[in-house]
Amino acid sequence: MRDDGLTYLLWSDLVGVTRTRGVPSRDLDRRARVGLGWAMAGQALTPFTDIVANDWGPMDEARQIPDMATQFIIPGDDANPSIAGVICNSMTADGEPWECCVRQFCARALADLRAETGFDLMASFEHEFTLWGNGQDPQTPFSFAAARQRHRFLEETERLLDGAGLVVETLEPEYGLGQYEVSVAPEPALRAADHALVLRETVRESARRQGLKASFTPKFAPDAVGNGVHLHLSLADPERRNVTADPAGPAGLSPMAAAFAAGVLAHAGAVVALTAPSPVSYRRLGPHHWSCGFAALGVQNREAMLRVIPGAGPDPAARARGFNIEYRPCDATASPYLALGAVVRAGLEGIRRGLEAPVPVGRDPADMSGEERARAGIRPLPATLAEAADALEADRVAAGWMAPRMRATYLALKRWEAERDAAGPEASFARYAAVY
Ligand code: GLU
Ligand code: MG
Repeated sequence: MRDDGLTYLLWSDLVGVTRTRGVPSRDLDRRARVGLGWAMAGQALTPFTDIVANDWGPMDEARQIPDMATQFIIPGDDANPSIAGVICNSMTADGEPWECCVRQFCARALADLRAETGFDLMASFEHEFTLWGNGQDPQTPFSFAAARQRHRFLEETERLLDGAGLVVETLEPEYGLGQYEVSVAPEPALRAADHALVLRETVRESARRQGLKASFTPKFAPDAVGNGVHLHLSLADPERRNVTADPAGPAGLSPMAAAFAAGVLAHAGAVVALTAPSPVSYRRLGPHHWSCGFAALGVQNREAMLRVIPGAGPDPAARARGFNIEYRPCDATASPYLALGAVVRAGLEGIRRGLEAPVPVGRDPADMSGEERARAGIRPLPATLAEAADALEADRVAAGWMAPRMRATYLALKRWEAERDAAGPEASFARYAAVY
């Protein structure tokens, strides 16, 4: 792709941080074969400077092997050089997939979905984030004034994302003060997860170049509007036709998509532990904020965990092409690979067991009585990270989704984060905003 400068070998880890080592670009072809060493104990790093107890010794090493199909360049400008990156799979010294590699966790889930159903998943990650610094002046939500204030940033970000290979659909101010949102076109799901990683880093870089700071933290301050990551999902047949819709099905879902949705609802606690994985995630989640607080499904319902989005427009064929399920309780403290992999694993369980989707809920589940919710099979999502970690640990089916060592390390990390938060919850907002 280029033979001067550095190429950064990148990988996402259990806490959703993009780690890296750089190599001279002229040496990349060799690195594609031999990769780079990385201490396995690094997978026990918290988002901060700590490392949780683990049983990897000082000599245990994974190899980060670049997947050359993921190479990308964040374009430069007059003041900033371009930045080249490539995303890695983590392998063992003998070239086997490493049991703790998050990218292969996701890829395996997608491969199993394909093998068992014949269908692929298409996905797009819609990100919200907060900008601050450089005279950010609070502006009215969604206003043209808020867009114009950051027009240079928005336009540059589109240029950089386009240069890095993403197809931006919209880029605009959101509801929160200093909050913006970017949505991109759907792609085969593993590529969508790769692009979520690239998008987060590119937006941060674009902000940095303008003397701004961008953070995807799910909650910036106790009273701030939350930053969500919404996963848009659709099933595709081998000809890439969207097969998610069936006008006769529950909520307009095809039988396969309905069973997938039911599986996600059935394993909601365990899945949320992987998609909303920080203490501040649970300051975002909850009723009445359009972030969602309940394991429910509804057509266009922004208070439901799964929002069914029928395609728009007068043409039924075009509507079917745009039809998708939006998974809402996700945020950018989650590795895109773990988040997507977990949703796929749960959806696949629903397909295997032939689960039926519930009747779609047409209101905010928080406005229903406890009895009404119980009748509709609607359960609350975990209220804290500690509760979510317990739900993941208690879910016997979810225990089979990950290698035991990956699961144990993940739970140790999440419990460490929950304890650290309990010792000083006020400090968490700034700590997570700085990292994510
Ligand atoms: N900011 C909301 C969240 O935390 C989402 C608002 C929307 O529907 O775009 O997820
Ligand atoms: Mg939004």
